[in-house]
Amino acid sequence: MTSTRSKADLFNAMGIGPVWELREQDSLSKSGSVATEDREASEANLPDALSLESLREMVAACRKCGLCETRKQTVFADGIPHAPLMVVGEGPGVEEDASGLPFVGKSGQLLDRMLKAIGASRTSNTYIANVVKCHPPGNRNPEQAEIEQCSPYLLQQIKANQPKVLLLVGRFAIQTLLNTKKPVGELRGVVHQVPLDGLDIPAVVTYHPAYLLRRPEEKSKVWDDLLLLKQQGIV
Ligand code: SF4
Repeated sequence: MTSTRSKADLFNAMGIGPVWELREQDSLSKSGSVATEDREASEANLPDALSLESLREMVAACRKCGLCETRKQTVFADGIPHAPLMVVGEGPGVEEDASGLPFVGKSGQLLDRMLKAIGASRTSNTYIANVVKCHPPGNRNPEQAEIEQCSPYLLQQIKANQPKVLLLVGRFAIQTLLNTKKPVGELRGVVHQVPLDGLDIPAVVTYHPAYLLRRPEEKSKVWDDLLLLKQQGIV
């Protein structure tokens, strides 16, 4: 386990405190409850083994759902292709829509601090994508139909990247990839498995940075989630 002193340093890096000790985990391995048949049906919407560049071009031209009408541009991904860590978020906000990159603005800066605390970053060992690739107007939540139309791109991104571990931030990423309606709080503390293409990809869940900005008292829980993620050997 990280020493108390270095943990304090990491907490400072994240802009949070106080120092908390990592609780004993109930289990470090738990099967996800993904509906494999549903996933296969989603994947069937796209051809197999697409490269990330091909996927990026397909997404840029996509008009499968109504979000294409109001987007400024699609937001495909940021970070290092084929990185050991892949972060999956919800969808682009206003700033992401303007920049074309996921997780910019305050929540993106917080995500970067969270990653830095465990030695990860989008410039070294992390790939970042969202469940939906176009900004929902008014910053509303993505609708189920939009998620169903767009999530095959995400599944193909995961396949193409082959990450060692996934970090699912926020309920839409979790609900989509773990096929559950349970709240984030009930799913934390164990490593889930996302079955995809015959492989089980380990997945750690945590709160979305935008939620943490509204509820900073929850940040200490995220530290435990990040330690669990670090234990998966990504850095
Ligand atoms: S949100 Fe996804 S499915 Fe909808 S138009 Fe954008 S890229 Fe296509």
